[in-house]
Amino acid sequence: MSPRLTPLPMTTLVTTDLIGITRGRSFPSDELEHYQAVGCGWVPANSALTPQDIIASSNPWGAYGDLRLIPDLSSRVTVGSGPDANAPVLDFIHADIRETDGQAWGACPRTLLRDEIERYHDELGLQVNAAFEHEFNLHAGVAEHAAFSLEAQRQGAEFGGWLLSALRAGGVEPEMFLPEYGKHQYEITCRPTLGVAAADRAINVREITREIARQMGLDLSFAPKTAAEAVCNGVHLHVSLLDLAGQPMLYDAGTSNGLSSIGQHWAAGVLHFLPALCAFTAPTPLSYQRLQPHHWSASYACLGQQNREAALRICPTVTLGGKSAAQQFNLEFRAMDATASPHLAMAALLIAGRLGIEQRLALNAVTDEIPDSLNDEQRKARGIVALPASLAQALDCLRDSAAFNEWLPKPLLDTYYALKTEELALTEQLSPADLCEHYARLY
Ligand code: GLU
Ligand code: MG
Repeated sequence: MSPRLTPLPMTTLVTTDLIGITRGRSFPSDELEHYQAVGCGWVPANSALTPQDIIASSNPWGAYGDLRLIPDLSSRVTVGSGPDANAPVLDFIHADIRETDGQAWGACPRTLLRDEIERYHDELGLQVNAAFEHEFNLHAGVAEHAAFSLEAQRQGAEFGGWLLSALRAGGVEPEMFLPEYGKHQYEITCRPTLGVAAADRAINVREITREIARQMGLDLSFAPKTAAEAVCNGVHLHVSLLDLAGQPMLYDAGTSNGLSSIGQHWAAGVLHFLPALCAFTAPTPLSYQRLQPHHWSASYACLGQQNREAALRICPTVTLGGKSAAQQFNLEFRAMDATASPHLAMAALLIAGRLGIEQRLALNAVTDEIPDSLNDEQRKARGIVALPASLAQALDCLRDSAAFNEWLPKPLLDTYYALKTEELALTEQLSPADLCEHYARLY
């Protein structure tokens, strides 16, 4: 009698696409050496998928062409079974999408980010250190507990403990698991890391969080809003810039808010291009229910010191324990949610900031007041503009901003416009409440 079979461990090559969905193909883990160099097959039109799982009809690729997913071995994530002892090992490797001859493919968001990070290195002499914070809704029990409470923490404690353990095993360096302001809302933060790995890490956080929820049979969503009355889920991107020797470059103790001149130009670039940038960082119709005043998200393009209504926030530094302000100093970009591709959104943000540095843009749009409480004249005087009110408006801003969109490869832009146009058509009949429910299921 032949012995009973056991399941083969699988490794998955993954790409996270333009809409922030991680997809890929798996092979027996002991064949990694074979797939390392040649990768696995991929289809160009996959990049034109909408979150509704419909390929945009007018995409540039149609039924033609073949690509490869080429693994970046340094990005491998391996997490053993957690709460479900029978769950197979989660083992995946981030990949770049390439042509079959190995050339870069124009619509790969991870390649776009890598290229931009190389520009920071080669042209500006800077390294990018970044971390994404994620908020999400988790139904770990029916009772609704007080915001930030120990009771809410205890309700999610088993999940949180497994999550921290799995993130650590996956090399993600988790920091905090905390109950948030909303009912059944939690947040997970992790340490910053250099370069493309920061965006990979955002995906690792999302996928490992989903994995633990799946193993525990819990409902989880990263969607920016999961119900009409729900508190919104944001993704906040913390960025600092270092010189090539690793010295922090955003900080200058001699300025009133601590922002160095490079930091001011970088922030000015981000704010200048922010209306167009929103097409990537707040990329679904639902995102605009979150980008509203008094949501602690962002509704105007401005920078504020420790101001949670500002799109860019100068984060606090602590002097306790003799800690260095320069080492901690970072800017937090708040106009983002988890319907965004971390690679695409981070690349777009870095492009905007680099243009600010290269063009030595002046930083005007600064306020420590709530931007919505200023009147039109006050905002105008400070150069504070409102963010787009809808995805359609954000896409128009992107189309109109040639100085910004010329940095994005045409195949990527064309695919993006096609799929977002399709997504708008697919969702136009949904009421605000239905949009929440719809995207809560997709993200
Ligand atoms: N939930 C808020 C958002 O949608 C953020 C709250 C906070 O500052 O942690 O961005
Ligand atoms: Mg939070």
